[in-house]
Amino acid sequence: MDIDIYALPSPCYFVDEGLLTRNLEILNSVQERTGCKILLALKGFSMYSVFPLVSKYLKGITASSLFEARLGYEEMGKEVHIFAPAYLEEEFDEILTVCDHISFNSFAQWHKFKNRVQNKSGKRVSCGLRINPEYSEIETPIYNPCYQYSRLGITLANFRPEELEGIEGLHFHTMCEQNSDTLKRTIKVVDEKFGSYIQQMKWLNMGGGHHITREDYDLDTLVECINFFQDKYGVQVYLEPGEAVALNTGFLVAKVLDIVDNGMKIAILDTSAACHMPDVLEMPYRPNIINAGKPDEFSYTYRLGGMTCLAGDIIGDYSFKEPLKPGDRLVFCDMAHYTMVKNNMFNGINLPAIALVSQAKGIKVVKQFGYEDFKTRLS
Ligand SMILES: *Cc1c(COP(=O)(O)O)cnc(C)c1O
Repeated sequence: MDIDIYALPSPCYFVDEGLLTRNLEILNSVQERTGCKILLALKGFSMYSVFPLVSKYLKGITASSLFEARLGYEEMGKEVHIFAPAYLEEEFDEILTVCDHISFNSFAQWHKFKNRVQNKSGKRVSCGLRINPEYSEIETPIYNPCYQYSRLGITLANFRPEELEGIEGLHFHTMCEQNSDTLKRTIKVVDEKFGSYIQQMKWLNMGGGHHITREDYDLDTLVECINFFQDKYGVQVYLEPGEAVALNTGFLVAKVLDIVDNGMKIAILDTSAACHMPDVLEMPYRPNIINAGKPDEFSYTYRLGGMTCLAGDIIGDYSFKEPLKPGDRLVFCDMAHYTMVKNNMFNGINLPAIALVSQAKGIKVVKQFGYEDFKTRLS
């Protein structure tokens, strides 16, 4: 789609409704082929101005906290699921009012809250346990829920089959940006270890980390994995991707503020890796920029740096066909997920505006931030 990036504020995240719709259609095709239910993991993408669109396709949301659960309840109003490593006593009544499924991370957590679930009036809540199959192909330890001494999920050694009364589902989440061949190997382990317990359940949640909307993703194998459990045990399968919903649907527009030279040319931008794209430093990875290449691929190479005083606030080295000059705009790709939900105002740097673009409605800036947002988080 052609959009005038100079018509947007800077910096600004924008999400393309057409691209988002395409992802939602792919996800929906999996639901239609299998009868599984797909939820949006708000941890990865919580842009609630598009929840009306998301809710046309997906069955609800999954949350990691009361606040996410409440946002999903208020703004989408479909199924609300939650998993957290532990729940706060003072929040649990509210969690019970907004959630349909609650997954617990230990038998101790389940016993602690079991009576409150069972004595609640009104809407019925279905409870599950997160299991740790101790099988993951994630190589980055901070994203691997099965690394040694992981706190996430109950291992087979810690599983207590005699304490399952009232438990209706099992949940596992062991993947990150992976294809369905990984899932296929994972479910084999899950079935070998936990199959006899899945048999007693109503539902099985296979977590997130499925890169379903990526170009080379093998949908047929995913369908096979879902059908495997549904056919073998009669369970309702849930998937809860975050990244796959918003993958390649959003961009971050930023502006060149200055060019300095300290052995190489460095462009200082009105954005920041540390504040606006923290995964660039954490993961780490190098985002693509429209019309830019690898260092020396084109004639003019620059290191792109952010506005904070963190020495390592560097996005990466890129080359361009023309020299950069102050005022030029750059468009970073794939900036919808794990950005808006993770950004921060370190150094008092303002947050990027948030905009929605669509063929029919053009550009709509849905949110802008300012000093009050900075001040209200401090005192
Ligand atoms: C992070 C997370 C998700 C979403 O993961 P993506 O990689 O964004 O698909 C889903 N479920 C749980 C329990 C998670 O921790």
